[in-house]
Amino acid sequence: MLIPKRILTVSSANMDFVMSVSKIPQGGETQLESGTYQFVPGGKGANSAVAVRRLGGDSVFCCRLGKDANGSIMHNIYKKEGLDTRFIVVDPDAVTGLGAIMVEPNGQNRIILFPGANVRLTREDIDASFICRPDALLMQLEITQDAVMHAAWTANEKEIPIILDAGPANPDFPLEDLPPLEIFSPNETETEIFTGINPSNPDNCLRAAMELQKLVTAKYYVIKLGGRGCYIYDGKYYHCLPAYGVNAVDTTAAGDAFTAALTLEYLRSGDIVRAGRYANVVGALAVSKKGALPSLPTEALVNKFIADKAIRL
Ligand code: ADP
Repeated sequence: MLIPKRILTVSSANMDFVMSVSKIPQGGETQLESGTYQFVPGGKGANSAVAVRRLGGDSVFCCRLGKDANGSIMHNIYKKEGLDTRFIVVDPDAVTGLGAIMVEPNGQNRIILFPGANVRLTREDIDASFICRPDALLMQLEITQDAVMHAAWTANEKEIPIILDAGPANPDFPLEDLPPLEIFSPNETETEIFTGINPSNPDNCLRAAMELQKLVTAKYYVIKLGGRGCYIYDGKYYHCLPAYGVNAVDTTAAGDAFTAALTLEYLRSGDIVRAGRYANVVGALAVSKKGALPSLPTEALVNKFIADKAIRL
């Protein structure tokens, strides 16, 4: 049996408090709601780390949680999912990251994000996690710039490939200070923010990818294109990989699941195009189910989708 690839995710964990409201209250107003609310575990890092595990990878998660009820619930979920939680730090002086999300009947969201413990992840926390000797480092931009840079340069020193998902969009992040990456993967919005080019068609994707190349050195640039699939550029050749048709009900965590799947299948096969197709399958399955963690597909579900649709990776 093949030894599973080990992916170290150094990133964020949040609890999302999702309120379905009839309208947004005015200042000083108390609004009685007949709608519902839900606490949904999320955070880009946690979504990716769980996705890696469900897809058959060995998933090591390094993050900071607060010493509170949300932190404890999330910690237990990660353990139950089978993540390696040895490098999750419980911070007695911080709250667990919280996204307070108000959703109006027309679907419009208003989100307030309290990063809490996420922005207290230290260089020492990160150094400790590298003991696991990962096959790759996976990150997003939901922790501090210093944490991202430190983890990236540590991986670089140890010759561990780095996969960076560019979400959430942060125009001030100094991409040029990063070491060379294996894969850099922004979505459409992040691509436009970093390059000023909307990747709306293959020509614009190529122009945007060439601009990204000027900002950050990577072996592969993989632009996530929502319902259009993804675009891969290796500095010379490009591939437009169309999305797989599904009934899309909720795009939450689709990008996180996509990048996790891309990373894992790339490590397993060494083939970026195959990994892009695999990630498109995982992204499609993630949008066809509601929620963050609940929408992340298992390896068995992915294999069934591939077989049922006779997909050739
Ligand atoms: P993000 O969540 O970061 O904005 P995207 O919306 O681009 O990322 O979605 C990530 C991936 O999920 C896409 O590259 C694609 O593979 C898949 N995906 C997203 N929306 C759809 C859709 N409507 N139909 C099929 N696949 C989708």
